[in-house]
Amino acid sequence: NHMIPTASGVALTKSLEKHGGSITEPEMTAKLELDMLKISNGESTLDGVVKESQDMLYDAASKISENSDVIGEEIRSALKSQQFIGTCPKCGNPMVIKRSKNGNFIGCNGYPECTCAYPVPKSAMIQTTDTKCSVCGLPQLKIIRKGIPPQVCCIDPKCTSNTSKNYLGKCPTCNEGYIRILYSKAGKRFAGCSNWPKCNQTYPLRPKGTITPTEQPCQVCGAPVISFGNYSECINMDCDSRKRKLE
Ligand SMILES: [Zn+2]
Ligand SMILES: [Zn+2]
Ligand SMILES: [Zn+2]
Ligand SMILES: [Zn+2]
Repeated sequence: NHMIPTASGVALTKSLEKHGGSITEPEMTAKLELDMLKISNGESTLDGVVKESQDMLYDAASKISENSDVIGEEIRSALKSQQFIGTCPKCGNPMVIKRSKNGNFIGCNGYPECTCAYPVPKSAMIQTTDTKCSVCGLPQLKIIRKGIPPQVCCIDPKCTSNTSKNYLGKCPTCNEGYIRILYSKAGKRFAGCSNWPKCNQTYPLRPKGTITPTEQPCQVCGAPVISFGNYSECINMDCDSRKRKLE
């Protein structure tokens, strides 16, 4: 249910068009419009047109049933490729979406010899890509969340390509952890300390727009300063630097 349900639908339509002959909708609509015209100026009769349409549908339906094996196979392989995330860099087997009692995850078909496994991004729609992470070589996924532009990310949340993107700066509360962008179960983004649960510092984030870390601490409170393209602000909503801006 995390996948965008296009691939299989597209495969079905394509397959039916390919094997169903005259059933494609634009052609059929065009023909019917022409027939209406012919009826109105007396060239055809209503009964004739209905009979012709029935023949056309019968023809298409019998073509589809003749080819049902091929159509089934095409849909099956489209569904398979929808599950295919990429090639495992460790063993070369395909990595696919797998189901478990604890929900879906990305696993290697080389299991049990290869135990490569990664979480499916939560509360997001995902699309497969054919690109690989430039840092670690794992497959990348396009992650689509409400309000923010789609991101192409490495499937390993611990990969530095991901952690550096989400890294906002040092935690001013515990001085040990760092503040990074996280996503709640409902898909809302917020910032939290990596030292959790020892340090429970979190900051709400604006739900929209691309956040760019500035890696600068706020001059007033020490929390990370983030940029939204045309302006930057301290991540801490209660910070005096933000109150001053409003005045
Ligand atoms: Zn593997
Ligand atoms: Zn990576
Ligand atoms: Zn902290
Ligand atoms: Zn501040």
